[in-house]
Formats: sequence, structure tokens, C-alpha cells
Amino acid sequence: MPYDRPDEHTALGVSGPGRGMPPRHLADLEADQRRAVVRELGEPAFRADQLARHYFTRLSTDPAAMTDLPAARREALAAALLPELATPVRHLSCDGGATRKTLWRAADGALSESVLMRYPDRATVCVSSQAGCGMACPFCATGQGGLTRNLSTAEIVEQVRAAAAAMRAGELSGGAGRLSHVVFMGMGEPLANYQRVLAAIRRITHRAPDGLGLSQRSVTVSTVGLVPAIRRLATEGLQVTLAVSLHTPDDELRDTLVPVNRRWKVAEVLDASRHYANTTGRRVSIEYALIRDVNDQPWRAELLGRLLRERLGALVHVNLIPLNPTPGSTWDASPPSVQEEFVARLRTAGVVCTIRDTRGREIAAACGQLAALPHSAG
Ligand code: SAH
Repeated sequence: MPYDRPDEHTALGVSGPGRGMPPRHLADLEADQRRAVVRELGEPAFRADQLARHYFTRLSTDPAAMTDLPAARREALAAALLPELATPVRHLSCDGGATRKTLWRAADGALSESVLMRYPDRATVCVSSQAGCGMACPFCATGQGGLTRNLSTAEIVEQVRAAAAAMRAGELSGGAGRLSHVVFMGMGEPLANYQRVLAAIRRITHRAPDGLGLSQRSVTVSTVGLVPAIRRLATEGLQVTLAVSLHTPDDELRDTLVPVNRRWKVAEVLDASRHYANTTGRRVSIEYALIRDVNDQPWRAELLGRLLRERLGALVHVNLIPLNPTPGSTWDASPPSVQEEFVARLRTAGVVCTIRDTRGREIAAACGQLAALPHSAG
């Protein structure tokens, strides 16, 4: 079983629990593995393909709707390959129903959140890769709660399937639509759960009926900057967008804002990002939460601009995110005039840069606010 192995990044100084993982699910398996499971149940192998079509194409997990399977065998097949992994504990909506956060409770009680956001031209789901997070960034609510465990491949895919089903069913305002984008910007550090996240990306982007058929280019993986994992991601032959949570160009401050910087410094992170950009031809996104009087000084904008031009040239785009408030933190977003000044200096340095239109602040669904608190109002 893949879950018995310790996470491979333990060796890289980033540990992740492997115990307490959920039951095997169709979305954990390759097509031939699914067929083997079905054969073990004494069923013809093509039943596995039928189940995959229900799951990945019809986005259904309800055995009663699988009328092309013999009625007497539906429950057994579903039990073997479609165990219920998590139940939605609560949905919270805002933006007139165009943004919806879902709190999930896994079979072992682990909590995670996903956020579905509809825009005029696309619909994006922000998914969690871990229950909690071990990276301990002090401005992020998830980081304050610590790591519960890695999510399984199927637990990640299931967040995307559920979002695609919700879009198809018209559960967000604006009527029925299609899920187009996936961002690994929910709870957790995706590259600390590397193998499961990679398998999830393959399932999400594989064409139907073996996957959900989203385009690789509409998937974004966001990381604190686990350098060996970024370099490894560059070897996978994928076209996914890499986002790097930099937050400051200098090691001294980054050592405290993103504690993993004590292990992999800014220069190493940017070199690995450059390698990813060169290998894939994809522009890398740099995430930068603007925190009032902490990392928003003009000199930092200039240093950032210079570093990015030097190390990444035109292969970079900066996303500035005015800090979202988190419980217990005294930090604030930079005021608009400071944001504008920061943008202007980056642009003068020749770096493409936008201020992110953050969604979901009032339901604690915005970047850095996912705490998976079952009893809070939002
Ligand atoms: N662990 C990964 C994935 C999480 S993505 C990563 O850090 O990249 C969530 C993004 O929101 C990251 O860029 C994170 O640094 C940022 N973020 C965290 N807390 C925030 C806050 N309070 N306000 C704005 N952005 C925040």
C-alpha cells in the first residue's frame, strides 16, 4: 500500500504523517489497478471502467444511479472503489453566491476546506492538500493550527469532483457552468505531500473517462519553496503553473515569515523557480502578501524587482495579496497608497505585477484564512 511508506520528503527535512489515511478509492488508482480490484471481486474488468465513467465523467458517487451495473453488485463495487471519504460539514457563501467555502470532515475526523469561486469567464476551486499545515508561517491561520495529516490522492481529487459537480448542478449563482481551474492554495503545503498531489494532478487533468479532463495549464501548485520538490516537479513533464510564496526578497525577514527559508534561502528558491520556468516554458507566479510596515517598504519593492529581473527575467509574474486578517494576529494589510507604490516600483523594474482580487474574506475563505474550525461562524 502506498500509504505505508513514509512521505519521501522526510528525507528532505519535511516530514508528513502517513498513518490514519483513508480507505482506498478509485481516484487513488490507475486504470489497471482499478480493474485488478474489480477482478478480485469476481467481476469483469470493464466494470472498473464503468465506475470510472460514473465518477470522472458523470461526477456521480451514488451507486443507485449506476444503472448499467447489475443491481445486486452495485453496493459491493461501490464499497470497494467508492467509499465515502469525507462529508461536507458546512457550506458558507458570499459574493452573492459566487464564492462558496466547504468544510469537509474525513472518516477519521480530519478537517479540511475547499473554496469554489465563480468569475465571469471561469470557475476556480481552491483545494487543500493536507489537513492543517506544518510550515508555521506566522501570518497564515492554517500554519498556526499545525499539521494534522496528509490528504490522500482521492481526498484531493474528491474536492475537485465535488466542485465540478456543484458547478454542473448550478449550485453557485449564475446557473449551471463548468469548473475550469484548480489551485492548490487551500490548506497545506502541496509539495510536502508530493506523491499524492502529483497523482491527484494526473487524475484531475487526465482526459475522461480516466480523469476529470481539466487542462494542465489551468492547474496551479503553490509552495512555500521546497527546493528539491520544485526541481523534481520540473521533471514530471507537466504544464502546471508553479506559484511560490515569497513574501519578501531578503533572507532575514523571510526566515521569520516563511520559516522553511531557514533551510532553503531566497536565492535557491528563485533558482529552482527559474529552472521550473526554463524546463516547462511556464511563467512562475510569485505570491507576496503585503503586510503593513513589515514587508511593504519601497526598498523591498526595489530589491524584489531587481532580484526577479536578474534571476527570472521575463518568466515571472508577481501576485500581490493585501494581507487578509487572521485570528490573534496584529498584522494588517498595507494601505492602498502603499500597495500602489509597491506595484509602481516593481513595474519600473520591469516586472509584471497584479494585485489579487481576493475573494471570501467575510467567510474566512480568503488566502491564509482557512482554519477548518467546525464551530466558528466563518
Ligand atoms: N503552502 C502553500 C499553499 C498555500 S497557498 C503556500 O504557502 O504557497 C496560500 C497562499 O496564501 C500562500 O501564498 C500564502 O502565503 C498566502 N497567505 C497565507 N496567509 C495569508 C494572509 N493572511 N493573507 C494573505 N495571503 C496569505
